[in-house]
Amino acid sequence: MKKHNYSAGPCILPQEVFEKSAQAILNFNDSGLSLLEMSHRSKDFVAVMEEARALVIELLGLEGKGYSALFLAGGASLEFLMVPYNLMKENGKAAYLDTGTWASGAIKEAKLFGETLIVGSSKEESYNHIPKGYNIPTDVDYFHCTSNNTIYGTQMKEFPSVDTLLVCDMSSDIFSRQLDFSQFDLIYAGAQKNMGPAGATLVVIKEEILGKNGRIIPSMLDYAKHIKAESMYNTPPVFPIYASLLTLQWLKNLGGIAAIEKINNAKAALLYAEIDRNPLFRGAAAVEDRSNMNATFLLNDEAHAATFDAMWKAAGISGLPGHRSVGGYRASMYNALPLESVQVLVDVMKELESKI
Ligand SMILES: *Cc1c(COP(=O)(O)O)cnc(C)c1O
Repeated sequence: MKKHNYSAGPCILPQEVFEKSAQAILNFNDSGLSLLEMSHRSKDFVAVMEEARALVIELLGLEGKGYSALFLAGGASLEFLMVPYNLMKENGKAAYLDTGTWASGAIKEAKLFGETLIVGSSKEESYNHIPKGYNIPTDVDYFHCTSNNTIYGTQMKEFPSVDTLLVCDMSSDIFSRQLDFSQFDLIYAGAQKNMGPAGATLVVIKEEILGKNGRIIPSMLDYAKHIKAESMYNTPPVFPIYASLLTLQWLKNLGGIAAIEKINNAKAALLYAEIDRNPLFRGAAAVEDRSNMNATFLLNDEAHAATFDAMWKAAGISGLPGHRSVGGYRASMYNALPLESVQVLVDVMKELESKI
């Protein structure tokens, strides 16, 4: 039986994506070839890449605004260094918001390239909220933030208006909610949180920001070279790109980001209401910064953990334990997780209350 999959990543994808991508491995587009054994320069695969790149721009509402979408390899973690390599000037500086493990991973890499200012941090409070009221100096080359902190369950609800470039790691909430995406100059996201399987990284760049920092950039790390090569500078990760395309098509057919946002809001409202109502549980993140993608929560009395764990496992739930660095529970409610799965979890939480 299919599990109620709360995995934080790699994540649940729509069932039709699994079925269609399995079919493509056996026989892609009735070509008599597997997707895995054909040239990435073939007409069939070039069409996949073109449609995937165009659909990203369309779904984000960025058509005609000078943006280019790339599907690269190396994960969001490689973007931690590609961003400063491409955007930080020699002897330049950048500003970062430190909202968790992934943000501080990005900061670590930026320090290899130049002065890296941490303009706000919630580290001292175990990253349980998003810092506010911070100042971004006007002389930085860019400001970097993380829209959703997958491990801690916090999410930025607003983004600062900046006098510099705005760069955002959206790995765990891209395509989950409506935003004015044109406020960002560069967005990146590992596919495996909300868009597809592991192995591809989406980068969306405003093209005019490139080529201005005076550095010599190795080819594979140079966004401009990837754009020029139409995201095929070398052999791209064909399977994760195809599965991402199928997920983007599924999203479009559903009504796009506006439609999924309604469902995501309903899922998050259902679960947080139970966390707040049920005396056995408490939320881990500051209420105003709660993530609609990753809900983190704790048992008030750890003595009930064994009972609760046995109950949710028996209900067919998978992937609920919190990140190894923070413990507790984390319900990752990515786009493909149905509302019914959240109801199953809420019912288990109620049942625990009635037992105790
Ligand atoms: C998972 C995650 C990353 C790291 O992604 P990789 O693709 O594994 O490198 C970076 N940022 C955020 C917000 C994440 O959730």
